[in-house]
Order: sequence, then structure tokens, then C-alpha cells
Amino acid sequence: MNHIVEVEHLKKHYNEKAAIDGVSFEVNKGEILGLLGPNGAGKSTMINILATVLSPTSGNVKIFGYDLKKGVKHIKQGIGIVPQDLAIFEEISAEKNVQFFAGLYNLKGKTVDEQVEEALRLVRLYDRKDDKPKTFSGGMKRRLNIACGIVHRPQLIIMDEPTVGIDPQSRNHILESIKTLKDNGATIIYSTHYMEEVEAIADRIIIMNEGHIIAQGTNKDLHQHVKDETTYAFHLTQCERVNVNLIHQIEGVINAHLTGDTLEVTVDQSKDNLSGIIATLTTEGCQIVGMTSKKASLETVFLELTGRSLRD
Ligand code: ADP
Repeated sequence: MNHIVEVEHLKKHYNEKAAIDGVSFEVNKGEILGLLGPNGAGKSTMINILATVLSPTSGNVKIFGYDLKKGVKHIKQGIGIVPQDLAIFEEISAEKNVQFFAGLYNLKGKTVDEQVEEALRLVRLYDRKDDKPKTFSGGMKRRLNIACGIVHRPQLIIMDEPTVGIDPQSRNHILESIKTLKDNGATIIYSTHYMEEVEAIADRIIIMNEGHIIAQGTNKDLHQHVKDETTYAFHLTQCERVNVNLIHQIEGVINAHLTGDTLEVTVDQSKDNLSGIIATLTTEGCQIVGMTSKKASLETVFLELTGRSLRD
């Protein structure tokens, strides 16, 4: 079975409003699928349907080949859910938390000890196993939440925005642990509104907006929606007289505008003429004190498709 998940014409209405409005896609065995979209796109609703927590209004969902409505028992055993809201006990040790979830999945005897240790090591909390979550940072609690969700070694792991509002170190630990889970053979569906994360770890990406899939494919496929552009930001001094029109006339320049001391220039990558821009600025008497560059990203893809920013 190549498709672990098959979703066909799925709809979910809350009263009159469609949170998911006719969505179809598949998830391949062993891949990390990134579900990307701004707040309100329908990601949590989708994740909750796949996690068998919510029933769809219409459409078909199959997981491991079982129909979502008829095969819940089979499906539940094979999936691991990492919810957005923490599902941990603050007053018992990290290890006891993970043991509790192992018990829910009927793990017994030596298997419990082995898998609890494996889960805690995966999220780098084994050395804090005896401490209570109430002493943990937000990021550590999120990591413990992951350990609880995957202790039974599920085939399919469904994560709902596991890195919201946490420190960069915990975020890196979480992204690393997701890659390790994939290397160990799991299939992962990962929802987020951080495009850098899906660019870093997802094999395939689905971009959702207002209950619809607006684009899907590999990172490379999605970049074909945008032109090959780079935007340079030049931080200048003595630039009062800079003539932006002159920059516009340089071959390959698509756009240029000056805001305060920063000149932003967007160029066509195939005709990238950075040296020409720098020469013109120097001739104009500007001093360049710093420069950054930014290639078109999934943020640009989203903007081009919807006219909105992912973070709106
Ligand atoms: P996301 O996870 O991408 O932020 P959600 O699935 O949470 O999106 O929400 C999609 C839409 O459905 C939003 O407009 C949201 O307000 C609405 N919605 C979500 N849950 C409920 C609910 N329980 N009752 C009514 N409307 C809901």
C-alpha cells in the first residue's frame, strides 16, 4: 500500500460555514507531508478529522486502507496524535506521563520501559525523566507531548502545530526528532503556519487557504508558481541623492524602492546583475554599509496565489 491516507472530496461544515470545502489528497508511505496555511485555513479541522476526533460532513477518508467511519478501531492503533493543546499531567514525572500513554495503547512489560526510554530520548528529555512538567519550559512541555503521542511506535504520526510559540532550541529538537521518526519508517503529517519549517523538513507540501487546497507538491514544484527572483536590501549612508530610476534601468532589475536608508532591489535571477547595481550606487555617491538577500520562498508562493501573507 503506497497511500497511507486517501482523502476524497472532503467537506466539514460548522453550522453554515465550511471549514473544509471539498478537499482531496493522498499521503504516501514514509513521507513527511507539510500542511501549511494561515490561521483559519482549516488545518486543525483537517488534522482532527484524520485523527478520528471529528466527523466530516461529507466525503471519503481512508487510512491504512480502512474507511474512517467503519475502521476506526484498526486506524486508532496505528496512529499517533500530537495535539496543539498540551495533553500532559503537570504534577507527575515526565517518565510517568509517557508511561501513562503507553498504557493507553496497551503496551506491557519490558516493551513499556524500552519504548518509554526511546520516546524520551527522541525528544531529548531522558535526562529530565524524573522531573515534573510543571518545572519545564514551554518548549520542553511540547517535546514531552510528542513523546506521549509516539511512544507506541505508530505508523502514521499527525502533529498539529507542535512548534507554536517555543524557543528556537526546542523547535530545532522537534524538527530533528520528526526527521528521526521518518528515518525509522513513520509517515508524518505536520501542520504549521511557519513556511521555513515545511521548507526544511517536508517531502511534500499542501498549502491550504479558507478550506481549500490552493497548491500542492514538493518544495521545488511549488516554487514554479513564482518567478526566479531575488530581493537584495542595501543599507546605505549618504544616499540622499540616489536616483531609483537609474537602478530600474539596470538589466535584470524588476523592482526597486527606497525606504529611509534601505534600498530594496528585486532582480530576475537569470540576469542577476549585482555588480552593476553596486557600481551604480557607488557612482551615485552612496556608501553601502550592509546588504542582505532573500530568494523567493513559500511565503512568496502564498502571496502570489492569494494576495495575502501567511502571517496575516
Ligand atoms: P487552522 O487550524 O488552519 O487555523 P481551523 O481548522 O482551526 O483552521 O479553522 C477553520 C475555520 O473553521 C475557521 O474559520 C474557524 O473559525 C472555524 N472553526 C474551527 N473550529 C470551529 C468550531 N468548533 N466551531 C465553529 N467554527 C469553527
